[in-house]
Amino acid sequence: MSAFHREKVLSVRHWTDTLFSFRATRDTGFRFQNGQFAMIGLEVDGRPLLRAYSMASANHEEQLEFFSIKVADGPLTSRLQKIKEGDTILVGRKATGTLITDNLLPGKRLLLLSTGTGLAPFVSLIKDPDVYDRFEQIVLVHGCRQVSELAYGEEVVRNLQSDELFGPLLAEKLTYYPTVTREPFRNRGRITDLITSKQIFNDIGQEPLNIEGDRIMMCGSPAMLEELRQMFDGRGFSEGNHSEPGHFVIEKAFVER
Ligand SMILES: Cc1cc2nc3c(=O)[nH]c(=O)nc-3n(C[C@H](O)[C@H](O)[C@H](O)COP(=O)(O)OP(=O)(O)OC[C@H]3O[C@@H](n4cnc5c(N)ncnc54)[C@H](O)[C@@H]3O)c2cc1C
Repeated sequence: MSAFHREKVLSVRHWTDTLFSFRATRDTGFRFQNGQFAMIGLEVDGRPLLRAYSMASANHEEQLEFFSIKVADGPLTSRLQKIKEGDTILVGRKATGTLITDNLLPGKRLLLLSTGTGLAPFVSLIKDPDVYDRFEQIVLVHGCRQVSELAYGEEVVRNLQSDELFGPLLAEKLTYYPTVTREPFRNRGRITDLITSKQIFNDIGQEPLNIEGDRIMMCGSPAMLEELRQMFDGRGFSEGNHSEPGHFVIEKAFVER
C-alpha cells in the first residue's frame, strides 16, 4: 500500500500574489482530527515532494481544503501554486499535530492565535461543533502584514456566519479579530502587543487574559510563537501535549530553513 492517497484538485483560488487555497477530493479512509496536519505535495520526476500542511477543512467535510503560501524559490510551492482543477496531489495517509482540543484542559474561552497561513488549522477547528460545546467563547485572531492577506479568513468566517448550522453558533460564541501590522486597518498591531496591552480585550469587550478560564492554541511564524510562549510561560500557563493537557498548545506554521 502506498504511503499516499492520490487526490484530484477540485478548485483553486488565488488570494494575493503570495497566498492561495485549494480544494481536493478526500479518500474515505483518510481520517484526521480537526486542527491536525498531514504531508502533502506533488510527484516531481517520479518522486514525491512533500511538505507539512494543516487541513483547513473539517473532518466532517467530504473534500479537503488547504491554505498555502507561495514561496518563489520554494521546492514545493513554486510548483504547487500552478496547480489547476483536475491535477493530482499526494496526501499522506497519516495526520498528526498538537492543535487538538484534547490537549487542552477544560476552560471557558478558547483563544486561537494565528499569523499568515497559521490560520489554516483554526479554519478546521471553527467548523467543529465539539469546539462550540467545550467553550463558552472562541476568539479567532489572525495577524497579517497587509489587509489583502486577510481575505481568505474573512470569507471563511462570512460563509460560516451565513451557514444554517454554524450561523447561530458563531453568532453566540465566535469573535473574529483580524489585525494588520503594516497598513491602516480597524485593528492594528502584533498579537503579543495586543494581549500585553489588553487592547484586544478592550476592543472585543471581554475580560483580559486569565489562567482560570483561558485556553490557547497558537500557529504562526517561529518568532511569533517564541514570543507568545515566553509571555504565557511567564504568567504560569503550561503547555499541553498528547500525554498531558495544558493551558496552551503550539504548532509552527512553517520551519525556517
Ligand atoms: C506543522 C506544519 C504545518 C504547516 N502547514 C502549512 C499550511 O497549512 N500552509 C502552508 O502554506 N504552509 C504550511 N507549512 C509550511 C510548509 O510545510 C512548507 O514549508 C511550505 O509549503 C513551503 O514549501 P516549499 O517547499 O515551497 O519551501 P520550503 O523550503 O519548505 O520553505 C522555504 C522558506 O519559505 C518560508 N515559508 C515556508 N512556509 C511558509 C509559510 N506557510 N508562511 C510563511 N513563510 C513560509 C520559510 O522561511 C522557509 O524557510 C507547515 C509547516 C509545518 C511544520
